[in-house]
Amino acid sequence: MANPMVDDVRQIKEDNPFESMMSRFDRAAQLLDLNPDLYAVMRVPNREFKVYIPVRMDSGRIEVFEGYRVQHNFARGPAKGGIRYSPDVTLDEIRALAAWMTWKCAVVNVPFGGAKGGVVCDPHQMSLGELERLTRRYTAELIDIIGPEKDVPAPDMNTNEQTMAWMMDTYSMHARHTVTAVVTGKPVALGGSSGRREATGRGLLIVINEAAKRFKMNPPTTRVAVQGSGNVGGIAARLLHEAGYKVVTLSDINGGIYNPNGIDIHQALAHLQMTRSFEDFPDVERVSNHELLEVECDVLVPAATENQITSQNADRIKCKVLAEGANGPTTAAADQILHEKGIFVIPDILANAGGVTVSYFEWVQDRMGYFWKEDVVNERLQDIMVASFNDLVKYADTHSVDTRTAAYMLAIDRVAYDTRMRGIYA
Ligand code: GLU
Repeated sequence: MANPMVDDVRQIKEDNPFESMMSRFDRAAQLLDLNPDLYAVMRVPNREFKVYIPVRMDSGRIEVFEGYRVQHNFARGPAKGGIRYSPDVTLDEIRALAAWMTWKCAVVNVPFGGAKGGVVCDPHQMSLGELERLTRRYTAELIDIIGPEKDVPAPDMNTNEQTMAWMMDTYSMHARHTVTAVVTGKPVALGGSSGRREATGRGLLIVINEAAKRFKMNPPTTRVAVQGSGNVGGIAARLLHEAGYKVVTLSDINGGIYNPNGIDIHQALAHLQMTRSFEDFPDVERVSNHELLEVECDVLVPAATENQITSQNADRIKCKVLAEGANGPTTAAADQILHEKGIFVIPDILANAGGVTVSYFEWVQDRMGYFWKEDVVNERLQDIMVASFNDLVKYADTHSVDTRTAAYMLAIDRVAYDTRMRGIYA
């Protein structure tokens, strides 16, 4: 009989994104035979900040929120990564997400390190004014450690263009001049980039197209199950639908909808926007977010949150291709099961890298003060995503490893090379 204590311990570990990240890092480092000094430096974040953020609530009372910014690595350039607002934020989660940004930027070869921030709060229970005050005070607390040459935040879960505009303004007020390049994912009118809002979804479409070519899958007969409906899942679903794929599921936090013959994604997203739910959307079956992962499909796109595919359900996943829209949707314990099932994984650090790639374009445009047309942005995004996909597949073939391990190896190898060339200031 299973020992409940032991099961609990394993469960806690499996659900800890930092553990998932580290076990993959260790495996890749071992396969690369990474020099022990580089290993010692690269396995830990460069620095971690914890801030307490007083916010005057609409009631007139002050509430103090806890926030983090983890700067994982600077070897290849300024740290880069989003900021999330959620009641579930933990330091370990932000640590993992910061490290994933380092590996992600290295996989697509953009000149950034990795960082991530988070504030423990429930943005759905807060007014716009409260969110603005929270964002401004959080930015003020980080003022010395962010900046175009230091660390460049961006949107993530529950933050958006408005949040970035407030951050940019707060930073600029302290600098006494407008500094657009301090954050990316801003409104286009305020130094944002065309195509940034759709970039993560578009990146997913591009890598799914490449996988479809590789496995000779035709869009009209390719069923894609999407978990999520936000900036990543919703946009990916719409672009996939427009490209002729049969998108069979969509979901929000309360559950999903399923139609094996395909969903009209425009109508479903319009319904969600109007009614704030998929409830009473016609001609679909209701499924839970967990049932959704197990539907018959060719491509599965988890684009919601972490730890969706675990050792508990990995053997029931039925796709041929897993394209990870979210960061860390698959636990390390599930990797082996997916590999044994022959599922082709497009790992998160490649699949969702379209966002940070166009963030890089935004940062470049802000620094030049010269803005590109959306076609140019999309074309350059396409070039980078296709090249990175091909590099990854080639690397996996050459080293006879699965694509997840290949992505970590490729990224760690690049960061290690740069760290070695710079030398360790020790
Ligand atoms: N939050 C996004 C990610 O996880 C984008 C980060 C960025 O653009 O810096 O990749």
